[in-house]
Amino acid sequence: MTRIFYEGDADPGALEGARVAVVGYGNQGRSWALNLRDSGLDVAVCVRADETREQAERDGFTGQDLEAASDADVICVLIPDDVIPTLPVRPREEALTVVASGYTLAFNRFDPAGDQGMVAPRMLGPEVRRCYEEGVGFITAVGVQRDVTGQALPRLLALARAVGGLRQGAIEMTPMQEAVIDLAVEQALAPALQQVYGSFVQVMLERGIPFEAILTEIGLSGEMERTMRLVRLEGYAAQMEHHSPTSQYGQLSRRDAFAHLDVASKMREITGGIESGAFADEWDAERDAGYPVLTALKEQHVGAAVRELEADLRRRLGEFADRA
Ligand code: NDP
Repeated sequence: MTRIFYEGDADPGALEGARVAVVGYGNQGRSWALNLRDSGLDVAVCVRADETREQAERDGFTGQDLEAASDADVICVLIPDDVIPTLPVRPREEALTVVASGYTLAFNRFDPAGDQGMVAPRMLGPEVRRCYEEGVGFITAVGVQRDVTGQALPRLLALARAVGGLRQGAIEMTPMQEAVIDLAVEQALAPALQQVYGSFVQVMLERGIPFEAILTEIGLSGEMERTMRLVRLEGYAAQMEHHSPTSQYGQLSRRDAFAHLDVASKMREITGGIESGAFADEWDAERDAGYPVLTALKEQHVGAAVRELEADLRRRLGEFADRA
C-alpha cells in the first residue's frame, strides 16, 4: 500500500535547532530558502560568490561559500543534477542531505555521508514559492535513500512540511522510482505523444485542412489545456458531461481504436535503459563532450525556423494576435 504523508504526519520538532543550508539559489533553491525561512527554520544560502549570492543577500539571507554547507545539519542540494557530483560539499555523518530529484541518488552520481533523502516537488521551481504563499502547496514525492541516524524519515518529513510539500500530500517513493517515472515521462510519454500529434497533423493536411486550423485544435486555442485542467479539477468522468453528446459518443466509441498498436514495448525498452543507468551514462558522456548532440537536436526541432513559424502563427491567431 502506497504511503501518502500529510502535514499531520510531520513533527516540526524533528528539526528544532537545526541549521539548514540551501545549496544553490535558482529555480528551486530560492523558493526553498524563502519557504523554509518563513516556516521558522534557520537557513543559510551556500552559493558561488556571484550575482546569485548578491540576490540571496538582497533577499535577507547570509550568503556563504559552497564548502560551508558541509557544517549544516540539513543540506538541501538544489543545483542542476549534472553539476551535483562536482560539489565541494562533505556532510557530517549526523547530517541529512536532501535532493529535489531522485536522479543523482538513484544512479549513484552522489553519495554524501550521513542520511540521504529526496523531497521532489511536482511543481516548477518559482511556483513552489507561489503555491506556498497562496497556501495551496503542491504534490511531492518523498523518500529516504539511506538512514544512518534512525531519524532520516522524521527529519525529511519535517523539511518537506516546511517547504510546503505536505499540504496536498506527499507520495512515498524511492529516489530510483522517482527518477524512473520522471525520465520516462520525458523519454517515453512525451515522444509517444509527439508521434500521435504528428500523425494527426499529417492526416488533416492530407484532407486540405488549413495548417492554422490544425495547430489551433492541438494547442493554440487552449481548449485542450483547459480540458486537461477540468480533468484535474473534476476528474475524467465528471468532465465528460461538458462535451456534447456527439463528442462523447465519438470519444468513447473509438476509445480502443488504437489498442492493437504495441506502444508499451517501446516504452518498456526506453524505461529499461533508464533503470539500468544506460541513459545516465549516455547523458554524462554528452555533458563531457560539451553537449554536441543536444545542441544539434535543439537546432533541428526547436531552432530558429520553428520559432519563426510559431511566432508568425501567434501574431495571427489567439490570445497574442496582432489585431491591427
Ligand atoms: P537551477 O538551474 O535553477 O540552479 C541554479 C543554481 O545552481 C544557481 O544557484 C547556480 O549558481 C547553481 N549552479 C549551477 N552550476 C553550478 C556549479 N557548477 N557550481 C555551483 N553552483 C552551480 O536548478 P533547478 O532549481 O532547476 O534544479 C535544482 C534541482 O531541483 C535539480 O535536482 C532538479 O532536478 C530539481 N527540480 C527542478 C525543478 C524545476 O522546476 N526546475 C522541478 C523539480 C525538481 P550560480 O548562479 O552561481 O551559477
